[in-house]
Amino acid sequence: MPTALLEVSGVTVRFGGITALDRISFDVMSGSIAGLIGPNGAGKTTLFNCLSRLYTFSEGTIRFEGALLTDFAAHKIAALGIGRTFQNLALFRTMSVLDNVMVGGHCQTRTGFLSNALRLPWVRREERDLRERATEAIGLLDLQSVAHRPVSDLPFGTQKRVELARALLSRPKLLLLDEPASGLNHEEVDTLRQLLSRIRHELKLTILLVEHHMNLVMRVSDQVVALDFGRKIADGTPAQVQANPDVIRAYLGDAA
Ligand code: ATP
Repeated sequence: MPTALLEVSGVTVRFGGITALDRISFDVMSGSIAGLIGPNGAGKTTLFNCLSRLYTFSEGTIRFEGALLTDFAAHKIAALGIGRTFQNLALFRTMSVLDNVMVGGHCQTRTGFLSNALRLPWVRREERDLRERATEAIGLLDLQSVAHRPVSDLPFGTQKRVELARALLSRPKLLLLDEPASGLNHEEVDTLRQLLSRIRHELKLTILLVEHHMNLVMRVSDQVVALDFGRKIADGTPAQVQANPDVIRAYLGDAA
């Protein structure tokens, strides 16, 4: 029987007079792809920031594999099994693709400053293991041919794949993707769609993505959650959400 990997229950976030999230509840099933949609300012990024513990919420609970997220510090979230990418790329532009991807695994290494400086045998072992895993992720995302190129040399769509490869290195169970299709051309969006389906199956991942690109969300997701002005207005299959009158109104206005 499918179980919920993520359980969001009654989450509320206020910024001064603005209620950015108003008692939001939904579950994401293990192994599924869930899309989070909504017009600008709906609260999508705020929710993502709650999931990665960048924001604290005033009410509600978020459970990951049954455990309360608030019991863990923000810097423990990656080690817990939640990986993410950002709306604006957060890569080291002058570093190579391989080095950028390897950065993603450092939350799991034990090396400190001193052991690194002394190049102890287990430090070298960890580094070798990290390099192997990075090479694997690079292969999975078809980045072999550019592995040693600096990131700044690469087209935007390829850089976004580098960020995805890096997020995979922490071996997440849940991957949070913040607008992975933004800035991509038609062909790159199609490649991304195939990649997401592939990594979900091959790595048995659960994915939650915030995305404005409706075609991508509706084709790749098993479940879509729609927000508007901080409230949840729909939660269901892509077909159900697309046909929901509140969703149509939120996107097209009252004229719809
Ligand atoms: P977009 O699609 O434009 O990225 P969004 O759905 O991600 O929008 P949020 O960025 O989560 O929306 O914003 C939700 C509401 O909360 C907006 O009214 C926004 O102005 C407000 N907000 C978000 N972050 C902050 C903050 N740090 N301080 C004050 N208000 C904020």
